[in-house]
Amino acid sequence: MMTELDNALLEEIVQQVRPLIGQGKVADYIPALAEVPADRMGIAICTLDGREYYAGDAGERFSIQSISKVLSLTLALTRYQEHEIWQRVGKEPSGQPFNSLVQLELEQGKPRNPFINPGALVVCDMLQTRLSAPRQRMLEVVRQLAGQPDLVYDTRVARSEFEHSDRNAAIAYLMKSFGNFENEVLSVLQTYFNYCALRMSCRELARTFVYLANQGRPLASETALLSPRQARQINALMVTCGMYNGAGEFAYRVGMPGKSGVGGGIIAVVPDEMCIAVWSPELDPAGNSLAGTAALEQLAQRIGRSIF
Ligand code: GLN
Repeated sequence: MMTELDNALLEEIVQQVRPLIGQGKVADYIPALAEVPADRMGIAICTLDGREYYAGDAGERFSIQSISKVLSLTLALTRYQEHEIWQRVGKEPSGQPFNSLVQLELEQGKPRNPFINPGALVVCDMLQTRLSAPRQRMLEVVRQLAGQPDLVYDTRVARSEFEHSDRNAAIAYLMKSFGNFENEVLSVLQTYFNYCALRMSCRELARTFVYLANQGRPLASETALLSPRQARQINALMVTCGMYNGAGEFAYRVGMPGKSGVGGGIIAVVPDEMCIAVWSPELDPAGNSLAGTAALEQLAQRIGRSIF
């Protein structure tokens, strides 16, 4: 039986998955993330007809982390020809953790896809080449999409990431050694960490990413951000690569294009219908929100949605 979408349904799902909190692990590679209270749980939906539903801590901002990789790719698609992007980064799932180096060495510095760290670093490098102020430009774009002029980077998180950046720096330098990096590594890392350190709430995320459900067009805008074809292509990449080495499990359980971040957020897209954002800081072994995935699985079942 399919259930009607409303706030009460989302509230019920939050209550249902809350007992899972305690089974995962909050990201602790930097202190600023390790401090986030593990008991937070939020869910928000933005539909194409502009309705919003939400429950739990849907209004509390958190570090969006790798969810920003979708925004970087979107921005790159507005500044580059598609072939220019895909000659520097692939479109294949990696089946490896998001910060792995092994394939990079074997594949001559070309990252598997734009949604793992190596791929996102290449995309940030490209943005750095074509944008005079890539950090400011990203802020303008998300503020516009979310309808929130006060969105900012969490400078403490960004700084802390930079202080613990050995692995991401190694990834970038390895790509540079293969000729797949144009700018100063340290400066691109700064841009990348700032993007990761954007703070947004579930409600803001659902509104921001609804363009992926709406054929590339933000809700309140006459002008499209991406073409319908490009929006479909990003959704396809999210299905195969959005959850790292948990992409298969997520497609099996949730059945929607999704992108996670180590802050515990996940966005999911129901094409031509809605964007969903969930947040619960504890992660599963692949680095995806444990209770957040369960909430999306419940929701997909209750409202009877899947792209498959
Ligand atoms: N800032 C994190 C990193 O670069 C982002 C990773 C993630 O969210 N999966 O390691």
